[in-house]
Amino acid sequence: MTLNLCRAGSRVAHLKLSWILSRHMAPLTSSCHGRLASTEGSTPSPSMYKFVVVGGGSGGLAMASSLSRKHGKGQVAVIEPSEDHFYQPLWTLVGAGLKQKEQSRRPMKDVMPKACDWIKEKAVEFDPEHNSVKTSGGKVVQYDYLVVAMGIQLNFDQLKGLPEALENDPMVCCNYSYNTVDKTYKALQNFKSGNAIFTFPNTPVKCAGAPQKAVYLADDYFRQHNKRDRATITYWLPLPSIFSVAQYEAVFTDICKKRDIQVNLLHNLVEIKPESKEAVFAKLDTEPNEMITVPYEMLHVPPPMGPPDILKASPLAGPAGFLSVNKETGQHTKYPNVFGIGDCTDFPTAKTLAGVAQQTGPILQAISAVENGLTPVAKYDGYTSCPMVTSDRTAVLVEFDYNLEPLETFPFDQCKEQRSMYFMKAQLLPALYWHGVLKGLFHGPSTLRKLMHLGFSK
Ligand SMILES: Cc1cc2nc3c(=O)[nH]c(=O)nc-3n(C[C@H](O)[C@H](O)[C@H](O)COP(=O)(O)OP(=O)(O)OC[C@H]3O[C@@H](n4cnc5c(N)ncnc54)[C@H](O)[C@@H]3O)c2cc1C
Repeated sequence: MTLNLCRAGSRVAHLKLSWILSRHMAPLTSSCHGRLASTEGSTPSPSMYKFVVVGGGSGGLAMASSLSRKHGKGQVAVIEPSEDHFYQPLWTLVGAGLKQKEQSRRPMKDVMPKACDWIKEKAVEFDPEHNSVKTSGGKVVQYDYLVVAMGIQLNFDQLKGLPEALENDPMVCCNYSYNTVDKTYKALQNFKSGNAIFTFPNTPVKCAGAPQKAVYLADDYFRQHNKRDRATITYWLPLPSIFSVAQYEAVFTDICKKRDIQVNLLHNLVEIKPESKEAVFAKLDTEPNEMITVPYEMLHVPPPMGPPDILKASPLAGPAGFLSVNKETGQHTKYPNVFGIGDCTDFPTAKTLAGVAQQTGPILQAISAVENGLTPVAKYDGYTSCPMVTSDRTAVLVEFDYNLEPLETFPFDQCKEQRSMYFMKAQLLPALYWHGVLKGLFHGPSTLRKLMHLGFSK
């Protein structure tokens, strides 16, 4: 059956046949939930789908929506354990008291595409040689095509003292989780005087702009609440520059200078001591690394991040543990019926929701090509973007591609702080997310960019 037909090498050629066979096998294995078979107390019997999507976050649901719209009911399963779905970009604004955190959350059942079967469990093992995924409940879910969309894993426990500090110190906060994001606004409100320290992890990171936005919003809040002269704001990064794109690096270096924000490059936060309210940094340009201990009044810490453990341990992982994909099509580098989208992949670009939206089109086209026995031709250009919020009324919209070349949508000077870009971030993008991106209907701003530049743009 499906398993043997789809061995490496002849995998794609046999996909159609395996699908026909799986349709015939399906009634034999079906149980209470569509074609899902329960394995409790018995030998696991596989359930079969044309498409299995692992992860019901931004990329997973965008793909599941599009695939189920095209292929119909019962063809797509989404493996996702969470009861809730989050619009994470809103957390930057929640941390500054500009939005309520509840606005970022919707019940998963409300956003899950109706034509998909939702398997409310964790994926625990990938077996791409046999086109199957094992779940935490012991199910074996088989696929013709797999889309991996598990996001990046937050590793709070990889930073000494961070879990304890987040638990016990009200002035240590983090915008990267629904559970900790409201601590940031409380810390801003309760700040009296001293060091307000903001850090950046020494690991891959989702939305590399988010740690920096927290700095600007704190500065803005302190100014509006007459505390700025009592606050020493510092931003500590393990990186050699504040932004990887030269043009934007100049913009943000200038903003920091003007606002008296001290930027400490090549410093990595290695320990937090909540009892003495101290942060310990390794100075990366010294050998062995010199350690610096700095007292804090307030400390914002994005956690270390990395590939999901089960992905890292699987044959699907590339050298860094993320899903190994072709950078233009999202197709797996070894298994042609496996695709990836978003933060869990090794697309060599910044991990953002904007990137996810832009990836959707080329990946869908690539899947369609493989289904039809063709070679994928669509090309993802690495587009990624982020509205860098600089106050409660302004933002700088950064947009760039694989070559770290700006790829800007609007015909005005995007290097300037703009009120319109803040409005877009706070009002337009959330609506675009819930009604466009999640439904697989918005594939990035390329068309808008062409219109805005009267056709004279990439
Ligand atoms: C504070 C913050 C601010 C941000 N700001 C911006 C911004 O301004 N602009 C921007 O473009 N992007 C921003 N982002 C980044 C953006 O949210 C992510 O890049 C985007 O959500 C990635 O989508 P994804 O589908 O790859 O992962 P996610 O949306 O994180 O979804 C991953 C899903 O996989 C599920 N999952 C995990 N493990 C398993 C498993 N074993 N089995 C099954 N399911 C599993 C999870 O439960 C989750 O639902 C921000 C992120 C944060 C945290």
